[in-house]
Amino acid sequence: MGIMYQSTRSKGEKVTASQAILKGLADDGGLFVPDRMPKFEVPLAKLATMSYQETAYEVMRLFFTDFTEEELKACINGAYDKKFDTDVIAPLVEKEGRYYLELFHGKTIAFKDMALSILPYLMTTSAKKNGVKNEIVILTATSGDTGKAALAGFADVPGTSIIVFYPKDGVSPIQEKQMVTEPGKNTMVVGVDGNFDDCQTGVKKIFSDKELAKRMDEKGYQFSSANSINIGRLVPQIVYYVYAYGQLLKQGALREGEPMDVVVPTGNFGNILAAYYGKQIGLPVGKLYCASNENKVLFDFFGSGTYDRKRDFILTSSPSMDILISSNLERLIYKIAGNDADKTKRFMAELSGEGEYTITDEMRRELESFVGGFATEEQTAQEIASVYDKTGYVLDPHTAVASYVCRNVAEADKVKTVVASTASPYKFTRSVMQAIDHEAYAPMGDFELVDELNRISGVTIPQAIESIRTAPVLHDTVCEVDGMKAVVEERLGL
Ligand SMILES: *Cc1c(COP(=O)(O)O)cnc(C)c1O
Repeated sequence: MGIMYQSTRSKGEKVTASQAILKGLADDGGLFVPDRMPKFEVPLAKLATMSYQETAYEVMRLFFTDFTEEELKACINGAYDKKFDTDVIAPLVEKEGRYYLELFHGKTIAFKDMALSILPYLMTTSAKKNGVKNEIVILTATSGDTGKAALAGFADVPGTSIIVFYPKDGVSPIQEKQMVTEPGKNTMVVGVDGNFDDCQTGVKKIFSDKELAKRMDEKGYQFSSANSINIGRLVPQIVYYVYAYGQLLKQGALREGEPMDVVVPTGNFGNILAAYYGKQIGLPVGKLYCASNENKVLFDFFGSGTYDRKRDFILTSSPSMDILISSNLERLIYKIAGNDADKTKRFMAELSGEGEYTITDEMRRELESFVGGFATEEQTAQEIASVYDKTGYVLDPHTAVASYVCRNVAEADKVKTVVASTASPYKFTRSVMQAIDHEAYAPMGDFELVDELNRISGVTIPQAIESIRTAPVLHDTVCEVDGMKAVVEERLGL
């Protein structure tokens, strides 16, 4: 029997992988989870010899069991090709004994590309398999990086269109420029007067609007999600942890079966959950260090067992981690609650009602492989400066948060540790350059800083940056949080 997917909030609905990818979110507002964890069948030693694409196939076939081999391989080969600026797709770079897994070599130079370059293929294949005739409307809330990666993935893909909502004042100048210059004909980008949580809540609300869904269907549309709640994003993210393990074996840094720790700069809890799923299928992952910026809800949660979102939302230099409601944590809650949907539903109701919930002691014991850590703005900047001074390697602020946590929390236990390196420093040049030398770089313009970064790091300026230097702004819609639904209705002519 293939793997089926069920909601974290009720026992009823069980769907195939392709249906779960199409729907994004379950009807009851829960997240789709596999009804059992498959086991990785390839001998670990063999991983060292496998390409990224081969590794991807061996991981994805375990979860997407209703896809044929031919379908999956077509998706993988379409996604992980020359769009990436390196054949190895995800290089593993050692500095000061830490292993930085560079996940930013795709089209939009952030790790979201790892999953969002394949999601459109998975989505259109799923539509074909299920006889879907409607146009699929991708609705996405972004804290900065998902937006452009999703736009790049879905731009001009037949049978799809995409609407992206981002917090108007909550993304970096380069992130915003990348999005509002998107030329795809089937794309729309909207700035929202609110923060990321407002955008995400707004999108979830539109998703669960039954009346709207009915009117959409009459006009030949249906929604899906490119957010990390989609299982079609989560599973491709397991791949690079498996691949990293293979690379460590290949480099002789690990012996077969020896554990590898991971440090993941975390926002919506998708990336670190993928590492946890990797562990569940049998990858020797030891500890999972969950690194937060000053929005350290998760650090507090791992320390106390209470998830409390009632606090000020802080805008930081790592905007893609400025999140107080980490959606994917629901999948972990479900797992540690013993796959109990009723219990999970109650916690989520408490979260949206009272703004907090506390898990039981029994559930906390299930979290023993997770360790929380965080870095303040100052510590993040110091980490960028210090790694640059010692090695010449330039970290982006998200990676720097993880690197700081690695240095100060993880390294005590002497296990080989992989730091998920989630964005190119070119995406956050202002914060990065000011961390290195505030006085010299604060007065410079955004693209002047790009050239300076190139000079001091010797790293080629990515195409993603070159192409927006002179690109015209094509999207200028701005709306209130309450106006998000109206924007969608107008765009689709409902
Ligand atoms: C999205 C993002 C994160 C956070 O990843 P989650 O899966 O949401 O936890 C971290 N760093 C960068 C650069 C990102 O774009």
